[in-house]
Amino acid sequence: MSSNATCNACAFYENHVANTQKVSENAGLCRFNPPVTQPEANARGLWPVVSATDWCGHFADERKAA
Ligand code: SF4
Repeated sequence: MSSNATCNACAFYENHVANTQKVSENAGLCRFNPPVTQPEANARGLWPVVSATDWCGHFADERKAA
């Protein structure tokens, strides 16, 4: 796995955004899949929060995704 293929370089990463008002440093949302975990019918789903240096097999280079 290339060390450049991390979440902060992925087309699906939304940096410095979280599901709450609290924003973590070096973290953001992964928007590859729809929100998950909807514990109650009226609750909204949550986007997975990932570290900027995390990675997964769905990585897509944001420079090539446009
Ligand atoms: S978890 Fe995978 S798809 Fe989501 S932002 Fe990171 S590399 Fe991209």
